[in-house]
Formats: sequence, structure tokens, C-alpha cells
Amino acid sequence: MFRFLKYTFLLLAAVAIVFIAWCYIPPARQSIEAADYPWKKGMTAAEVDQTARELLSQMTLEEKIDQLHGDQAYPLFLKGIVRWFVLGQGRNIAYAGRNDRLHIPPLGAADGPRGVSLLGKTTCFPVTMARGASWDPALERRVGAAMGIESRVRGVNYNLGGCINLLRNPAWGRAQETYGEDPWLLGEMGAAWVRGVQQHNVMACVKHFALNSLENNRFKVNVTTDERTLREVYLPHFKKCVDAGAASFMSAYNQVNGEYCGHNRYLLTDILRQEWGFQGFVSSDWIYGIYAASPAANAGMDVEMPLPRHYSDLAQAVREGRVAEKTIDEMVLRVLRTKLWFITRPDPQAYTPDMVASPQHRALALESAEKSMVLLKNEAGFLPFQPAKLKKIAVIGPLATAENTGDHGSSAVKPPTLVTLLEGIQTAVGAGVEVIYEPGINAQKAAAAAGQADAVVLVAGYRYNDEGENLSPFRDANDPVKWGSGGDRIFLRLREDDEVRIQTISAVNPRTVVVVVGGSAIVMDSWQSQVPAILMAWYPGMEGGTALANILFGKVNPSGKLPFTIAHSEADYPWFSPMTDTITYGPYHGYTLLDKKGKTAAFPFGFGLSYTTFSYSKLTGAKPVLSPTDTLQVLVNVTNTGQSAGEEVVQLYIGFENSPVERPKKLLRGFEKIGLQAGETKVVRFQLPVRELAYYDPTQKKWVVAPGRYAALVGNSSRDEDLQRTPFEVR
Ligand code: BGC
Repeated sequence: MFRFLKYTFLLLAAVAIVFIAWCYIPPARQSIEAADYPWKKGMTAAEVDQTARELLSQMTLEEKIDQLHGDQAYPLFLKGIVRWFVLGQGRNIAYAGRNDRLHIPPLGAADGPRGVSLLGKTTCFPVTMARGASWDPALERRVGAAMGIESRVRGVNYNLGGCINLLRNPAWGRAQETYGEDPWLLGEMGAAWVRGVQQHNVMACVKHFALNSLENNRFKVNVTTDERTLREVYLPHFKKCVDAGAASFMSAYNQVNGEYCGHNRYLLTDILRQEWGFQGFVSSDWIYGIYAASPAANAGMDVEMPLPRHYSDLAQAVREGRVAEKTIDEMVLRVLRTKLWFITRPDPQAYTPDMVASPQHRALALESAEKSMVLLKNEAGFLPFQPAKLKKIAVIGPLATAENTGDHGSSAVKPPTLVTLLEGIQTAVGAGVEVIYEPGINAQKAAAAAGQADAVVLVAGYRYNDEGENLSPFRDANDPVKWGSGGDRIFLRLREDDEVRIQTISAVNPRTVVVVVGGSAIVMDSWQSQVPAILMAWYPGMEGGTALANILFGKVNPSGKLPFTIAHSEADYPWFSPMTDTITYGPYHGYTLLDKKGKTAAFPFGFGLSYTTFSYSKLTGAKPVLSPTDTLQVLVNVTNTGQSAGEEVVQLYIGFENSPVERPKKLLRGFEKIGLQAGETKVVRFQLPVRELAYYDPTQKKWVVAPGRYAALVGNSSRDEDLQRTPFEVR
């Protein structure tokens, strides 16, 4: 018996050693480069379609089905997991559907969305929520383009970074991966990212379709919603990405109105394809995105990723008549057309290894971080610091020295270098100023440091353990750091140790700025009155420390605006519970919910201070009466009334005055980021097709522009006091 056990053990050990050794060998690369395929560059859409049909006609059923799932057989899949989590070798490119006989390129997929995820060291941008706070689609397009370039260099032609789910409650663990709470902002930013990525002939994947904003129970939760809420609140941003030409959509894990999104014919076929005219392909979210082959295929799910857990049954399903071969053909055609279209686009440039984390991309990461930080409070011009007037600065808080770029789940990125917040400050102050650092774990030492400094930078906030993709079922409310990784947030305030630190440090030295790190809204009411300045720094990416210092010392004037509402209390957000099996998404959340309840925000959606001031004047609508097919034109003068140059986000909301159906008090319908020198005035012109004022009428199944009275509201936040108003009528 003992001998038997001994030999079994030795055998298992040998297998384990061989397996681990095998895992160290990187998996084979498949080419995604046009030069390796015979297809003519610049084919027209008609030629692509014809070629795809010819290819299809030459395929066996098995070859067709090979187009419809990830390549990874279970051992390869396991190898990927071991390489990622155990050996720290990063992630594998997930391939699907290469066919050598017919010269069909694979899909070669990698995650985003803050950089090309874990394929060696790549540029780490600020998280998506930070970039949402830039309110700068042109900048976001450049960020998307940089990700497109780095994808190409790394051999990736399918980038999964397009998360645009709407932030309904800030407790959502993956909030940092999206652009904010408002469908208009989400749509503009998501579409810009899609355009940027696809500029380099990388297929952009927009996810997670749809209503995915609860993490811990994501594989199970049934999100119910009514038709108007679905159409008006949760889908418009996805439609904008279709209009921007997105190659692909990824379905969400959750259920919508009782049907898993991966099996949801209403979402995947009726709305996405038939109504919106989406021409690309849909892939599943990974591993648990679908539950059986035929309901998924019949609903319009084209590609199961990253391995054929269920689509290995497709051939059988066809033979048994559960899925028509015609359906398979359509699925394959959608995939083939998209791949052929992208591989036959002429490249705008060559892609060489030195472009990954190049000086240009780092500069872009810096610019993006600078333009995303939101100055929430700045009493009596406390910031910017004047280095000439400071001798000693205390930097306090464990996050000041942490490599803290966000979630460690699918969106993780490993940059080649990283400037911590402390390093950024140390470099910026130069030799004349002493910077003392205290993690703050020892309260007495921290207080002593604060007491002797001229000013304190107190860094508070979260890490990957507090919020992120749910990679561990074992999270403990009392000690999330010890037990878990990611998941939905347990509290909407800062961690208790941070709150205590803010109270004690600001009592010792009231000249304290709190720098908040995190990916979503944080309720600050218990401490915000204690300090003169608060800066939301997000997870600012590899150049975050430099960006922070440039803002603190006035080299850069802050211009970020909140992409969500920071409420006075948790109770001001819609109900949320991480482990619930069912949840109803109603029409109101964020600023629309506060407007409805007649409540104020602690810091409203769209709000952010600058070191200069702006004034708005001469707001005019070009026409007082418009027809439903007209375009609303609104003009406003914006003047920089302060002493320094700055950027401002001019926002247009539409107020609904006498709608025949219930509407929110107002909705964002335009924004523009402009730069103004001190004293300069610019005229900002908004043009909004009146059809954008429509509501969805579920009985007629169409969008309706109601005649009646509206108002154009223009200003620099969603708060009533910050908005000027010009009325108009639709007849
Ligand atoms: C996530 C997706 C991601 C995929 C691949 C899933 O668990 O929900 O956002 O793209 O994994 O890593």
C-alpha cells in the first residue's frame, strides 16, 4: 500500500513538473499581419462579402464551426491560467478561427481597457473612468489609437477594451473600466475609443452588452428593466458605438429580463442587428457567457470565447436540426466579413516594437492623467502650491508609494516603469523643498510629520483589493485586503483608516490637500469640510505621479469634470446588493435621480474646479420654434475671467418642461472641451438634431419627439446654479 502511494505520488509529481515546465513555454503565435495572407488590399465591402461567401462555400461544417469559437482546448486554457496567475508570465493572446487551408486569419484577442493587457510590458493609461472625467473625445481617440498601435505590435487584432456599461451605483466593482454614469458621455467617449483603435485596423470589441454593472453575482444576476429604461438609459451608448463602426460586441454574463445576455435574441438580433444595423460579430463573455450551443446560436451569438465549452456541440446540433445550417452560415459570414475587411485595410503606418510604451505613448498617458484629475474643492486658492513659498511638504498615506494602477483582473496592465505619487512630487519640487514621507500606519509619526510641514498631501483611497473584477469569492467586509481581490465595493466611503487619518492629520495641520485614488464615486461628507482642498486623482496610470505633481504645483491647470455624481449619502444612489439574484434597473440614477428627488449632490455630475474662473454669457438659441426634423442650435460665450490659461468643459443639457410622458428634469445632450487664455472669450456652438430629444414609446415601438416646451441649459456642471437657460418649443 505504502509503495503504491509512493509511486502514485512520484508519478503525480513528475506530471506536475512536466506540466509546469510546459507552461513556461510560451504558446505559439499566429500571424494577424496582412503580409501573411493573400487577400487584396483595399477590397470594397462588396468584394469582401463575395470573398467571404466563396470561402464559406468551400468549408466543411467542421471548418465553419471552427470559425465560431476560441481555439483553446482545455490543456491550453489551463496553461494560460497557470502562466497568468501562478507563473506571472502575463496572458496569452486568445486565438479563434485561423484556417490555413483557406488562408483565413485568426481573431487574436487581448484585453484592455487601460492598455494592452498583460502581453509583456505596455503603456498603462489612467483607468477608463479617469478618461471619462477628461470629457475629451479627441484625446480618447488618441488613447484608443495608441492602444491600437500597441495591439498590432503585440500581434493582436481584436481588442476587448471597449467597456461602456453605465455606472448605476458606484459600488459596482468594475466601475473603473467604464466612462461614467451618463449615456451621452459614455457614447461619445466609447465611440471615440472605437475609432482610435480601429484606425490601426484592430477590431474593437464593445462590451458588456448589456446592463452589466454588478460584479459579485455577475454570472447569475437577472437584471429586469422596462422597455423605456432599456432604450433610453442603458442602450443609447451601445448604439453610438455601432454607428462609429465597431467591429464587435461582447455579450454580458448577466441575464436581462430573465434571459442570459449570451442567449438573448432580443438584444443580439432584434435590437443590435435588425434595428441598429450592426454588421460585425458578437462574441461571448468568457467561459460562462453561454450555457448551451443551440439557444446561443439561435439568439445570434457568433463566437464562443475563449474555448468551445458549448460550441463543440454545434455540429451535433446542426445534424439534429436544433440549429439550421443557414444560421451557422450567417454566423460564419459575419465573422469572415469582419476579419477580411480589417485585414484588407491598408495600414496607415508600420508597427515596430519600439512603439510599445514609446516616449509618445508615455506622454499621452501623462496628458490623459493630467486632463482627467478633478479638483473638487479649493478653498481660498489653497492650490496650486508655490514651491518658492514652501520649505517642507509632508506626503502621507500608503498609496503614495504604491504601484496602484487599478484592478488586477482582466484589465490589468504591467507598465515598464511607473512614477508613484510620491516620486512625482519629489521630482517636481526640486532641491529647494524637503519632502517627508510617512505611510501613516503609525499615527504618531504621521502627525509629527504633518506638524512640521508647511503643507500636507494626504493620499487616500482604494486598491485592487477594494474594487475590481471579482476574482475571489472570499471577501470579508472587515478585512477585504486580506481575503479578496476585486469585486463590488463593500462601502461607498473611504476605508475607515483613511477617514481617521484625514481627521487627525488635518487637525494637526489644516493646510492639507486630500488626494483621492479610486475608480468611482466616494462619499466624502464625513470629512470634506475638514480640509481646504480635495483632488480626485483616480488610478492615474504609469505617469500618474508626474501628472499629480504638475497639478499640485500649477504646471497644469486641472480640467477634469466628474463623470458621475458624488452624493451626500449612500442612500442617494439606487438600491444595490452585490450578491442579489435579481435587481430592477429603473429610469433614474445619478443626477437624474437627485433631480427627481429634489436633492443636491455633494459634488454634482459634470463638476470640477480650475485654477482660473470662467463665465458664461449671451446664451441664445438660434430659433425659438423647431420642428422634430430640425437641428437645435445654441450659442454661448465662454470667457476665462481668471489669471491663468485653462480648459473648460461646456455642457449642454436639455430640460423637459411639459412632456406628455414622464421625463427626467434634464439630460446631457452635448459637451465640448475648450482651452482659453486668461481674458479670452470663445463662442461655443452646439448643434443637436431635435430627434435626440425623443423618448421611446414601447407601444408604437418607436422614438417619439413630443411637441412642447423645452429648454437648452448650458454651463459647467449639472447643478441648476451652474446652468443658464434658453427656452424653445418643438411643434
Ligand atoms: C471579462 C471581460 C474580459 C474577458 C477576457 C471576462 O471575465 O468580463 O471583460 O474581456 O474576461 O479576459
